[in-house]
Amino acid sequence: MSIKIDHLTHIYNEGTPFQKVALEDINMSIEKGEFVGIIGHTGSGKSTLIQMFNGLLKPTKGEVYVNQQNIHGEKINKKEMRQRVGLVFQYPEYQLFEMTVKDDVAFGPKNMGLTKEEIDKQVKFGLDAVGLDESYYEKSPFELSGGQKRRVAIAGVLAMNPEILILDEPTAGLDPKGRNELFEQLKKMHQELGLTIVLISHSMEDVAKYVEKLFVLYKGRIAYTGSPREVFAHGKELEKIGLAMPQIKYIMEDLKQKGMDIDTDVLTVEEA
Ligand code: ADP
Repeated sequence: MSIKIDHLTHIYNEGTPFQKVALEDINMSIEKGEFVGIIGHTGSGKSTLIQMFNGLLKPTKGEVYVNQQNIHGEKINKKEMRQRVGLVFQYPEYQLFEMTVKDDVAFGPKNMGLTKEEIDKQVKFGLDAVGLDESYYEKSPFELSGGQKRRVAIAGVLAMNPEILILDEPTAGLDPKGRNELFEQLKKMHQELGLTIVLISHSMEDVAKYVEKLFVLYKGRIAYTGSPREVFAHGKELEKIGLAMPQIKYIMEDLKQKGMDIDTDVLTVEEA
């Protein structure tokens, strides 16, 4: 599944004293099978942007195309669009409410009009993808650790068979172990299932390590785009727009030592 955003502007509370331009003239495309990162300071427009991808928000100006189809066009089934473009909000575990892990993950598939066998199959698919086996199925989500709860919430979105998975700060509040595990699972889903993944992250290290293409938002505009290497080569300018960059050269060198194919010579960042 591909997504194309064409000259998109979004204004909250337009025409009131609270008017706020959250996104301005955004053009971007995400191709099938890509692992994409979106970074930017708080308030730069990241959450607003991802809500455009599945039609949750309607742009003030501009168009959103999913597989070349205008998603605000007449022929679009909004419910189907939200199933095909899976959105995982921040702290999704707050939305867990069923008595068991299995029932929670089954909630979405049940609403898709599937048979019981198909629902079970989707539940297994979602939980397998996040690395939770059958020993978790009958547990209450509330007995699980923070990282496990979050995985259950992500499994609930995956169980609806999305063609693209969009996650807003999926590792926020997790300890380093929980973070690494979740990222490894995402990497596996991307590699083994060919899932297209879009990730909002505050962690430069995580995006450097996992994503193939980065978009840097600044005040509602795309300031930089390219591979992490290309983007981080603008180290000094990135620091000026509020991203914590002094460590970036160190991070890239560290990843290089761990075997990643990184050319640190492109980095223009001075030592901190
Ligand atoms: P980020 O996810 O990068 O922190 P957001 O997309 O949440 O950025 O916000 C972009 C801008 O839009 C911010 O200035 C924010 O205050 C404003 N904003 C976000 N949501 C709303 C809303 N529902 N109503 C009014 N303004 C909003």
